[in-house]
Amino acid sequence: MNTPVIIIGSGIAGLVAALELAPLPVTLITRAGAGEKTSSAWAQGGIAAAVGADDTPQLQLEDTLRAGDGLCDPAAATAILTRAPAAIQLLERHGVRFDRNGDGAYALALEAAHCRRRVLHAEGDRSGAAIVAALVRQVLSTPSIRLMTNTSARRLIVNEGRIAGVLAEKSGRFFTLASDRVLLATGGIGGLYAASTNPPGNFGQGVMLAARAGARLADMEFVQFHPTGLAVNARPVPLISEAVRGEGAVLINDHGERFMAGTKGGELAPRDVVARAIFAEISRGNKVFLDARACLGTGFYARFPAITAICRQAGIDPAHAPIPVAPAQHYHMGGIDVDDNARSSVSGLWAAGECAATGLHGANRLASNSLTEAVVTGALAAADIAAAAEAAPARAIAVTDPGRSLPSVTPTTGNIRPIMSRHLGVLRSAEGIHQAIPALLAHYDADGADADPALVALAIAVFADLRDETRGGHARADFPQKRPAAIRNRMGLDAILDHARNLTPLARSA
Ligand SMILES: Cc1cc2nc3c(=O)[nH]c(=O)nc-3n(C[C@H](O)[C@H](O)[C@H](O)COP(=O)(O)OP(=O)(O)OC[C@H]3O[C@@H](n4cnc5c(N)ncnc54)[C@H](O)[C@@H]3O)c2cc1C
Repeated sequence: MNTPVIIIGSGIAGLVAALELAPLPVTLITRAGAGEKTSSAWAQGGIAAAVGADDTPQLQLEDTLRAGDGLCDPAAATAILTRAPAAIQLLERHGVRFDRNGDGAYALALEAAHCRRRVLHAEGDRSGAAIVAALVRQVLSTPSIRLMTNTSARRLIVNEGRIAGVLAEKSGRFFTLASDRVLLATGGIGGLYAASTNPPGNFGQGVMLAARAGARLADMEFVQFHPTGLAVNARPVPLISEAVRGEGAVLINDHGERFMAGTKGGELAPRDVVARAIFAEISRGNKVFLDARACLGTGFYARFPAITAICRQAGIDPAHAPIPVAPAQHYHMGGIDVDDNARSSVSGLWAAGECAATGLHGANRLASNSLTEAVVTGALAAADIAAAAEAAPARAIAVTDPGRSLPSVTPTTGNIRPIMSRHLGVLRSAEGIHQAIPALLAHYDADGADADPALVALAIAVFADLRDETRGGHARADFPQKRPAAIRNRMGLDAILDHARNLTPLARSA
């Protein structure tokens, strides 16, 4: 089958791109139902944009750069954040209705490390679900979009350095789709960790597909751990949104001590700071709770209906009892290295949303900037793909051998999660990373069901090994200081494997 454009993934980035490309024909491949198994649909807090009377994109940029801990690309961040108000209008054009106050103005929430109330929400804390539902409705009524549900992209096909198509799988049956324009919008990497808030089956497939196709990766070591996952034994870990702290909830340990009181920003300090403080409390044997009794009381139920339901399911009444919390993997700042038009380093391959590394987040994502990035980069990719389509109209492509290492088994992450959770979590060290790398390399080399997730995990481990400093989401017990120069790392699969193989004999003999 020939198709002008293939989009992989039906989260907000993929859905926006498909809609913005109309009427250009698009095939949208997604591994579950439309909008299902997406982080997008699970977003609670909302989407950050400088739309308040007291706000500007410049102020949002300053907050973003501060949270990014010196590693943001200021030009890329500026380009994305100045488009945020237009992204809100784009969503409204596609049927999204944001919550408003009695006077008709947007109801804006305050979240951690934002200097202004600038987080728009829809249906209270069901923001992601409300946005995805509206976009899916639009997609289903757009004739130019061919939707292929329950279909997984397993490999990209590359011909003479250019993208030529996708090898896809549905119910164990493999088939190829030919196209010279492919957009990856596959979301995050939570499937690699035991405790994660993400859909468990998303392990960074886009990163794997791009790396195998020869694309460069960037910032892979920067994994964000949400400070306040609900501390229950569940997968995915239910999330207690930052917005609860925005409303004044405080963190206490089981001795009743408010341990963030002495830290700049308190409970609303950047996520990495709060996650590390909670991790330190738990490492000392304490339990940690989020206490919203004084600030919200029974008002909690109306302001956070979804979180109320999550708590009640775990037997907790958030109006009358503190909520037990612990850090959980939540977001990946790194991914496929892209330019300002969402182009990867491989011709014909674009990436948008969480699977891309645009330079917006640097070492640590500012809360609610990711939905902004997903909408803006989805739209930017669509515009660039449409321009490329005009310049070179779709042509029939001869699909040749998709390359070595054809996948024969469904990927599984069960062997990868313990390695990543133990050695590449909130606090890392050379000792742990050097245990992880040979173990992950062995899973990759065995080329079985673990190989695809092992590739993504290995990339995170190798980038983490190279960053001998503590910065943003990457904390090293053996290098607690920040280096004076902030450098973003970029590498392709060959360099990642070289590093891992050079290290492996040493680690094994140590
Ligand atoms: C619980 C939770 C709450 C959050 N709250 C917020 C918030 O309030 N504000 C905010 O800004 N951000 C929030 N985030 C982060 C944000 O939701 C994500 O970063 C963003 O939605 C990512 O969008 P995306 O379109 O890139 O990916 P996703 O929405 O994750 O979509 C990825 C898509 O790709 C599909 N896919 C994956 N691999 C394949 C494959 N091989 N073949 C076919 N399809 C594939 C998936 O099934 C899915 O359809 C939250 C995340 C979580 C988990």
